[in-house]
Formats: sequence, structure tokens, C-alpha cells
Amino acid sequence: MKSRYCILQIVVLLTFTCAVSAQNRTENVILITLDGARTQEVFGGLDLDILKDKTRRGRVEDSPLYKKYWAETPEERRLKLLPFFWGVLMKEHGSIAGNRSLGSAVMTTNRMWFSYPGYSEILTGQARDDVINSNDRIRNPNTTVLEFLKRKLNLDQNQVALFGSWDVFNWIGEHEEGAITINAGHEPYDHDKVEIQVLSELQNEKLSPWDSVRFDYFTFRFAMEHLKTYEPRVMHIALGETDDWAHSGDYAHTISSFNKNDQQLKELWDYLQSSPKYRGKTSIIITIDHGRGNTIKDWTDHGEKVPEAQYIWMAFISPDLQLRGEWKNTETIHQNQVAATLCRFLNLDYSENNPRAGKPIARIFGGVKE
Ligand SMILES: [Zn+2]
Repeated sequence: MKSRYCILQIVVLLTFTCAVSAQNRTENVILITLDGARTQEVFGGLDLDILKDKTRRGRVEDSPLYKKYWAETPEERRLKLLPFFWGVLMKEHGSIAGNRSLGSAVMTTNRMWFSYPGYSEILTGQARDDVINSNDRIRNPNTTVLEFLKRKLNLDQNQVALFGSWDVFNWIGEHEEGAITINAGHEPYDHDKVEIQVLSELQNEKLSPWDSVRFDYFTFRFAMEHLKTYEPRVMHIALGETDDWAHSGDYAHTISSFNKNDQQLKELWDYLQSSPKYRGKTSIIITIDHGRGNTIKDWTDHGEKVPEAQYIWMAFISPDLQLRGEWKNTETIHQNQVAATLCRFLNLDYSENNPRAGKPIARIFGGVKE
């Protein structure tokens, strides 16, 4: 009698387990963007041609960048540059598309290949080259996925948050002004904690070299504090230094920004794992707004005259996704699929908000090809 009871228990348990695993486990989504962070560094680490070009005196082998980040193979180099991303995240928890040498490409559908059109395509699921053709501070003409999720999940303003280094996110992130929490540029961040108040003041004391972009350090600290305080279900952390240092032709700072962003990813991940609200229930997409040139002449640049900039990359970390490492010989995926993919993780259909938006990425969810 006792053993039969046990078997029954096991059957009930198994049935329950299967039912649960058929459902998505995702309850929260986080989008992370690294402005103009090239596929070349993400998949290949330090670029020796650029370093040689930048080494004015002495041997390239003696430069601090070479000593810290050079290795013979692309795999070893990228592990030195992004040790957490490649050594932990992509190995144990997620996968990445966009390495063209393996037959995987990710492209923008906008033909502008600079920031506002790229972020808008990510956040609305649609290129709007007809109206978004500059980085000017104009209100996004389409509702964003952040606004859509706020409505569908019935969230308050603190529960949907965008923290960005670039001030134009105040215009890109929402169609309806004030719909969600946006903190971007050198904007103060109000918080009860004294150290956050000090940081909020400091960001205007220790100005970055750029008028409209603050250091990622501040953006990341405020984002982390917001995450811990309000536990948002939808968050976009938009880091920017990988683009701005590159525009200045400063390869050393560009490279150290990649490495700093990797440390920030680790801090974020460790926090998510320590929190019952997020652990095992959070899907993350990491991507970029545009690529940049592939040569020593145009690695600093992007935009219509630099077609290489249409190639981007996209990484997925999700409790609902078994894929690990790099995508190989797969269909090209597109920037306009991010919004629908974020929604699909939450079992929501983004086409309700925008029927013209790109579809959820088929390789992740199965179903029809895009
Ligand atoms: Zn950009």
C-alpha cells in the first residue's frame, strides 16, 4: 500500500514538473545595449591592426593594451577582453548570434546605421527611416515595447525603467512623455540613499568629455540601485562609452570600456542570482544599435557611408532557452525582432502593438521562419 502511494506521488510530481516546464519561466526582461560595440571586438577581442596604427612610439608588443589583451586566437583574445561574458554567460547560461565567420549574421533593417534609428528599431520593432533620420531630440513616433509591456503587465512607472548614458533616450524610449521611468544623460537620480545622492551630484561635477553622454559608471550605479529598490519587471540599461571613445579615435579607452562593461554585466548577473525575484525568472537580451567600420580608417565611424555598420550582434540569456555559445550556420536575424522577442519570453504578442514589427526570433521559439 505504502509503495503504491509512493508511485502515485512520483506520477503526480512528474506530471506537475512537465506542466511547469511547458510554460515559460520568464517573469522579468532586461535589455542591455552597448552603443556601437563592434562585432570585431566582441568576437575577436583586441584588434591588432588598430593597435599598430595607434602605436606612435616603440614596439606594439610593449604597449599596455597588447600585454593585457593580446593572444594568438580570437577565442583567447575575446576571453581576455570579456572574461565574464565569454567565460561564464555564453558558456553556461546563453548564446550569441552575429559571428559571420561562423555563418551567423545579425543586421539592422534601417539603412541609417547610427544611434537613434538603431535604438528606435530595437525598442519599437520597426525601422522608420522615413521620419527617424537624425539623432535630434524628437519624440519617438511609435509606441515602444517598454510602454507596451507596462500596459500589458499592468505595471507602475518604477516597474518599467530605462537608464541610459545618452540624453536622447528621453525622446527615444517613450512615445508618450512620462509613460515610464527614464533617467538619461547627466540627469539627476533621486534616491533616499546618501551615496546615491552624492553620485547624482558628482556626475555633474566630474563631467564626461561629451555634452550629451555621461560616464557609464553613473548610469550603471543608478540602474543597479533602481533594480534593488523597485524590482522592475522590465528594464533597459543603455551604456554608451564604447561608441564615444571610438568616435574620438581613442582605442585604449574603447577597449577598457568593453572590459568595464563586462565587469558591470557580472555585477548585474550576480545580483540577479542573489534575488528570489529574478533568479531563474529573468530573460536578458544584449545587443547594439549599430556596428562600425572594419578598417583602421573607419573603425571610429558608422552611418550611411560605412555599410559594415549594419552588422550587429545579439546575445540571449534566458531560463527558457537551452542554446549555449555561438550560433553557427543560421538564418540572418534582425534588429527589428528584439521587441517581439522580449514580449514572447513573457508570453505576450508584440504584433498587437505594432503589426509591422519584426517577429519573435524563430530559432529561439520554433515556428515559422522569419
Ligand atoms: Zn550609437
